[in-house]
Amino acid sequence: MIDEPFDVVVVGGGVVGCAVARLLSRRELQIALLEAKADVGAGTSKANTAILHTGFDAVPGSAEARLVARGYELLHAYAPSAGISVEATGAVLVAWDDEQAANLPTIAAKAAANGYTAARLLDATEVRELEPHLGAGVTGGMLVPGEHLIDPWATSLAFAEEAVANGCVVLANRHVTECEVGAELTVLRTGDGEEVRTRFVVNAAGLYGDELHRRFGFDGFTVRPRRGELIVFDKLARPLLGRTILPVPTALTKGVLVAPTVFGNVMLGPTADDIDDRTATGSTRAGIDALLQKGRRILPALLDEEVTAVYAGLRAATEHSDYQLTASAAARYVCLGGIRSTGLTASMALAEEALMLLEQSGLVAPPTPDDRLVGVHRTPLGEAGERPYQRGGRIVCHCERVTGDEIAAACSGALPAHDIDGLRRRTRAVAGRCQGFHCIGEVCALAAATDGRTMAEWLGTP
Ligand SMILES: Cc1cc2nc3c(=O)[nH]c(=O)nc-3n(C[C@H](O)[C@H](O)[C@H](O)COP(=O)(O)OP(=O)(O)OC[C@H]3O[C@@H](n4cnc5c(N)ncnc54)[C@H](O)[C@@H]3O)c2cc1C
Repeated sequence: MIDEPFDVVVVGGGVVGCAVARLLSRRELQIALLEAKADVGAGTSKANTAILHTGFDAVPGSAEARLVARGYELLHAYAPSAGISVEATGAVLVAWDDEQAANLPTIAAKAAANGYTAARLLDATEVRELEPHLGAGVTGGMLVPGEHLIDPWATSLAFAEEAVANGCVVLANRHVTECEVGAELTVLRTGDGEEVRTRFVVNAAGLYGDELHRRFGFDGFTVRPRRGELIVFDKLARPLLGRTILPVPTALTKGVLVAPTVFGNVMLGPTADDIDDRTATGSTRAGIDALLQKGRRILPALLDEEVTAVYAGLRAATEHSDYQLTASAAARYVCLGGIRSTGLTASMALAEEALMLLEQSGLVAPPTPDDRLVGVHRTPLGEAGERPYQRGGRIVCHCERVTGDEIAAACSGALPAHDIDGLRRRTRAVAGRCQGFHCIGEVCALAAATDGRTMAEWLGTP
């Protein structure tokens, strides 16, 4: 039983909830972040395409367009100070037939309507000059110089670590199953019967946002997961492209793209399949086959390269095309629902939105004086910057060149890793071409030596 009533509890420790917790922790408030899983950033936020979008293709006038544009600015400015790797590669949107080429001026006009004026139309020759490895049949394109690559794992972690540094309590393994809104306090009950009292609640529960919304007595949207499968290719594929290669988007999806990652790999994906199972994050034969077929057309030489990994993420799609942002002063409740395909980019702007809605609902949130705020600077994991091994650390994961000191640091501190997946997101260990085959033993031994658990616990074996 936690008897301290909080001013605000954020339910859901994905990138959105962590961004909200970070911003609220910069106010004179008692904040808690409740996360059902053992770690933050371990849901949809760990399995996306990792692009910091300009928002050029959003629906003009939508909440998503506004918040992606604002979130892009905020995260772009925040990332270097927090040690989140960002790479300014830009993107080229490629048309593959005359109909798509004819649509490009409309997409450029949409970008301008969204306030993004740096896009430039290209003819087929210009596209090919930029990306000589593209397959045959290019009919035109559009350069979007502002699209960036970002480390999606470090983003959630940096937000959460900064929130903790400024007094936020992170309560992991807390799945909120019941809510009781009283006159002054709301009681949140977790799966194992624990109660957490708070004045205000922010729903950032991602794929389960609609279920939590209904527990507060509200309705209006239902999540139907849209699964996106991806293939990660080996770093030797990286010279095949200079920038992200985007397809012409449709109403349903941004489509299958080929993108470098800040870690130096190349990604092909994602698919877009509406499914019913909110836990179905496995890859499928059909999904991988569909990606390979598309990839063969976009960048034929990519298919000769080794595959490092496959993964899938679930977008919190709803019957609406826009984010579902609502507030109730009576219930002292804010909902950030339906954050479908752009939540990584929009996260810091969604946090601003949540704070505004909370204040409109009666929360008094005086800013903490600057001299009492604590910042966070993570060790950047991107290939473009300097890595610890270059300063002489002893490497334990040779594919990703992760040092023993990085493993030890990731297993200690305010938000330590508790499993291999958490270590991977904090350090890149076991994420390389051998997927841990060579290093997992030593990585787990180091982790166990740091946090005092057994190697078997780290390996997840009985
Ligand atoms: C394939 C794919 C590609 C994408 N590409 C991009 C991209 O390139 N750029 C971009 O900006 N965005 C992208 N996105 C979108 C982005 O990943 C999401 O919008 C974002 O991660 C959503 O974050 P979230 O915090 O809302 O959800 P999540 O990360 O799912 O976090 C929600 C958290 O709430 C927890 N939770 C749920 N219910 C409860 C409960 N009752 N009690 C306690 N905790 C609970 C969950 O365990 C989870 O950790 C992509 C998404 C996918 C799937």
